[in-house]
Amino acid sequence: MSERGFGSCARYIQRRGEIGRLGPHLAALGPSALVVIDPFIDSAYGALIDASLAEAGVKVQKIVFGGECWTGEVQRITSAAAGMLPASVVGIGGGKTLDTAKLVAQETGGRIVCVATVASTDAPTSGLAMRYHQDGSTDRPIFLPRNPDLVIVDPDVVVKAPVRFLIAGIGDALSTWIEARSNRDSRSKNYVGGGHGMPIAGMAIARACHEVLMRDAQGAVAAARLGVVTPAVENIIEANTLLSGLGFENCGCSAAHGIHNGLSILPGSHGKLHGEKVAFGTLCVLVLEDRPQSELDEIFGFCEALGLPTTLEAVGLGDASPEDLRRGAEAALVPGEATHATHAELTPETVLAAILAVDAMGRARLG
Ligand SMILES: [Zn+2]
Repeated sequence: MSERGFGSCARYIQRRGEIGRLGPHLAALGPSALVVIDPFIDSAYGALIDASLAEAGVKVQKIVFGGECWTGEVQRITSAAAGMLPASVVGIGGGKTLDTAKLVAQETGGRIVCVATVASTDAPTSGLAMRYHQDGSTDRPIFLPRNPDLVIVDPDVVVKAPVRFLIAGIGDALSTWIEARSNRDSRSKNYVGGGHGMPIAGMAIARACHEVLMRDAQGAVAAARLGVVTPAVENIIEANTLLSGLGFENCGCSAAHGIHNGLSILPGSHGKLHGEKVAFGTLCVLVLEDRPQSELDEIFGFCEALGLPTTLEAVGLGDASPEDLRRGAEAALVPGEATHATHAELTPETVLAAILAVDAMGRARLG
């Protein structure tokens, strides 16, 4: 594949204390900002954020996020800001808040700014927004014409969030290299501007993401449990957010996300975080693609050390019937699903077999 395309956020800033220094960043993008903020973040940091924006002379309209990224919420925020024409639309919070801000920016115009307060997914840097239905079930990914103009992450804020979010982000990032390799081997298109060949930069970033996870994940989680920031924490925040984000957008996803989406039709999995289910799906990719046992052992061991799911029970599906799992496998193979970029024979039977094989290996290893 000789033609290629690369997409990324225009700028990424990761620095301790940055949540209190948003004013100059937004002032540089224009005089006004529409801010969509998580209620919890607003109560913890709202005063700090307001003071910084006021000092920088940015005219702000702040709207508290309702909790779900669906069309009704996008309309609610857009109409509340009617007539404002903000210079920037700023999401401050978790992945759904940031994706909602991206979709609002499509309606109102303005630069897109993502202030990520957790490192639980690779959503912030990408030009995609995952839209849901009001009840929380997945609607579809929306491919936006532009990536965020600015992504800001404050490690002091990230380590104050429950450590489960950081671990889930590691599970999401774990898929990045393994799915990039699927896409390279199956010669699939990436997610940049309607789909292009994979650039060398994308593969290098995905590989770097994997190396950082293998080296620093355990140390970062230990530090984050104490609520302290170490270099390992800083490295893992970059891997989860920037490296994983650029990696998946420029290389593509495969069955780790496809099986995540398929199993997510089963209500038992709804209490689990995106990255937790993606980690289980990543193990399924290794089985589907017939990767060496040594690699399976390495990734199983990595997940076990961090408490990432390696069994159906751990993704909430311990009681799922064979028919349910079969429906999940079929849902992982609907047209357009990322599973099709996996470098393997892909039928409901092969996908179901991979799910059951991972579960059996996971249970055997746990004893
Ligand atoms: Zn993901």
